[in-house]
Amino acid sequence: RAKKDKREPIQIFHAEMDEGLNFRRTMRQGLEEALSGNQLDLHLQPVVDARNGTLTSAEALLRWTHPLLGPISPAKLIALAEESGQIVAVDDWVLERALQHIKQLGDVPVAINISPVQFRRRDFARKIVDRLEAHGVSPGQLRLEITEGVLVTHTRAAGRAIAELREAGIKIALDDFGTGYSSLSYLKDFGFDFLKIDRGFIRALDDGRQGAELLRAIVDLGHSLSMRVIAEGVETAEQAGAVQLFGCDYIQGYFTGRPMPIDQFQDWQANAAVRELHSLAPHK
Ligand code: C2E
Ligand code: MG
Ligand code: MG
Ligand code: MG
Repeated sequence: RAKKDKREPIQIFHAEMDEGLNFRRTMRQGLEEALSGNQLDLHLQPVVDARNGTLTSAEALLRWTHPLLGPISPAKLIALAEESGQIVAVDDWVLERALQHIKQLGDVPVAINISPVQFRRRDFARKIVDRLEAHGVSPGQLRLEITEGVLVTHTRAAGRAIAELREAGIKIALDDFGTGYSSLSYLKDFGFDFLKIDRGFIRALDDGRQGAELLRAIVDLGHSLSMRVIAEGVETAEQAGAVQLFGCDYIQGYFTGRPMPIDQFQDWQANAAVRELHSLAPHK
């Protein structure tokens, strides 16, 4: 074989790698600036009571608007930050902002998403409790969402942290349920307060009977293990109706409210209160 044939792919490989590294370096720097500037925001999405639409809590979702690239998806942001080690700073930012939101909202509990890497830190639970105290926020006002993956990759650390957090009065939700692992035994090993059914199962409702039966089974499973069940990604009135029929406790989705900046969230809240008052008025 000619030397040239061997060398060429290597050069291409190097060129692509450089580009990838440059890009990541640029993004890392961008995130650094985002953290110290005002490019990050924490939006709030309503979680409502499935029976009557009353607001019960909110999920905080991270938003990054890059000055040149525009909005960067939180999933990408988190992946980038995990790789670069900036995740601790990002999570700290989210926690502080969430605590400020909680104080501004009054009595609406707010849930934040927790990165799996947090469970590598022994002081994780302690730190959350300390920040609550520093802000004078009661533990019942903050909730944490974790995904199934954490329970497999960080089993013991996660178990310890979850127990400690619940002991302190912080409620924990298992997020994106049904997308991760087939073993269900962990559901009873860790005590979760909430089960969030992944929106894939809600979408499957549109395909007819089997989707409905699956959803019903998951709701029953959650209830039998003493969890409150939240349906994620409810987009239509039909889906909301089905979810309600199957006994889901809470609804979260575009149908009831999108993730919004806190000002807009408070407007939404005020309008919801007006809607409720109207529904209490006698119907003619
Ligand atoms: P998640 O925790 O499962 O959050 C729910 C996602 O579903 C959000 O996407 C939300 O905008 C979206 N969603 C809500 N209702 C609907 C609906 O009716 N239809 C559809 N199609 N989507 C809906 P988002 O904001 O892009 O966040 C994606 C993921 O990024 C989150 O999934 C969470 O895993 C992660 N994430 C977001 N913010 C944070 C954060 O502050 N910290 C960490 N560690 N992860 C975060
Ligand atoms: Mg979540
Ligand atoms: Mg989810
Ligand atoms: Mg998710």
